[in-house]
Amino acid sequence: MQNITLLGATGSIGRSTLDLIGRHPERFKLHAATAEKSWRAMADIVRQFQPRIVGLSDPSAAAALRAHLGPHSACEVLGGSSAHAELAASSNADTVVSAIVGLAGLDSVLAGVRAGKRVLIANKEPLVAAGALLVASARASGALILPLDSEHNAVLQCWPAPFALGESDPSIRSITLTASGGPFLRTPRAELEHVTVAQAIKHPRWSMGPKISVDSATLMNKGLEVIEAQVLFSLTPESINVLIHPQSVVHALVEYLDGSSLAQLGAADMRIPIAHAMGWPERIESGAERLNLAALGQLSFEEVDLEQFPCLALARAACERADAAPLVLNAANEVAVSAFLDGAIGFLDISRVVEHALERVSLSAVSSLDDILERDQVARRVALTAFLTLQ
Ligand code: NAD
Ligand code: MG
Repeated sequence: MQNITLLGATGSIGRSTLDLIGRHPERFKLHAATAEKSWRAMADIVRQFQPRIVGLSDPSAAAALRAHLGPHSACEVLGGSSAHAELAASSNADTVVSAIVGLAGLDSVLAGVRAGKRVLIANKEPLVAAGALLVASARASGALILPLDSEHNAVLQCWPAPFALGESDPSIRSITLTASGGPFLRTPRAELEHVTVAQAIKHPRWSMGPKISVDSATLMNKGLEVIEAQVLFSLTPESINVLIHPQSVVHALVEYLDGSSLAQLGAADMRIPIAHAMGWPERIESGAERLNLAALGQLSFEEVDLEQFPCLALARAACERADAAPLVLNAANEVAVSAFLDGAIGFLDISRVVEHALERVSLSAVSSLDDILERDQVARRVALTAFLTLQ
């Protein structure tokens, strides 16, 4: 029986993970769950999965949940932003699933890694902004990190065994991450200036939280994933390719020296990579629809137009610099996406804000947690001034 701490339990990845826990009660027990403030959704999780302890960042939401559950509840409720890290490091958890959005998940994922847990990471922003710190911490503690991001999980499935985090393999020539292209793949660039939030978050293939949906529309998501792949698999930026694949059936390919390429295929359903990592090294049933290649008929691939998607070009450039550029890129993007979701800036302003921050914030390397968090704050402030001038 694996005891699971699920960080970001009320979100899109959180719900898919709960679905898998519910399908395999003989294998998995939800020990602890956390979220930011959605206490009603957490109350439903407590009723259905009976975790021992839950945490909410927002103390007033935690108080509301405590009052709702009543004094005789067997579930303890923690309030405050330190709850996530505390529960990630808890000695009662075997596995930590990191499904918070943004760099806000860094302290908790790091706590799970430092405690030597089996850590399943969907939360890509900490890998982008603090990848070296996470890899070094996992090496020191013996934590097993498995990626849930569908492309990275696909690479892992095609990787030669045994997988060693952050270690390259001489038999591999390149990897390819696929991108659906998002809702604006064929939209003329001039029209992108005026697209709405509703249009941007309506992804043609995947159902996801708002931040990653916007990242998928700008293709910043794929840029973050190139950096994530570099961290996890220790590849040079030139050996990480990106291809548009609108059907979202092939999630990634690994190309070997001898000319063989291995690909992972599956429905666009996050329960597939999550089931792979939860069951690893065994395979478990995920509930996802089975592939029907004859019904699909054709799979197509094309190069990315970097003029249509400048965020991918910015992320690629950041990946090539071995310094704080990925951290600054991520911080500015988080600020810009949140401003776009609030209606404060336009869709095309997102890449402008990120470019502005990359030009003005120091990109000298940072390695300690404190330095990472400090540079992140500087980048956020600079990005905020950029979007104020864009309004
Ligand atoms: P979401 O917005 O649906 O859910 C986010 C969860 O994190 C919620 O439970 C929320 O309460 C919690 N949260 C938000 N802000 C927080 C904060 N400041 N502190 C603590 N908790 C906070 O997001 P999602 O789509 O599930 O994505 C989660 C992560 O997984 C992201 O990093 C995303 O890039 C990555 N990811 C998601 C998908 C997907 O299909 N949704 C696929 C690959 C990777
Ligand atoms: Mg992905």
